[in-house]
Amino acid sequence: MMDWWLRNRGDLDDYVDRDVERSCTSKAAYDSEAAARANIAMQRLSGKLFTYQCRYCASWHLTRRDPSAAPAPQTDDDDETI
Ligand SMILES: [Zn+2]
Repeated sequence: MMDWWLRNRGDLDDYVDRDVERSCTSKAAYDSEAAARANIAMQRLSGKLFTYQCRYCASWHLTRRDPSAAPAPQTDDDDETI
């Protein structure tokens, strides 16, 4: 049981480390969702870039993949006020 946990925990950490390297060190990080969204708006990339709060560094990053996506309804209500 403990062996199982440790083994899987090791795999998870390894995966997380790679993920952190890819998502945190190579990306801009923002203190708040508002800051991240403002940056998207500045680049005129609303609807193409999305924000998500990083679970590793707790900052906000930008992603091209809509985190809430499934078939994405094109309603960017939030962006209209920026
Ligand atoms: Zn991060």
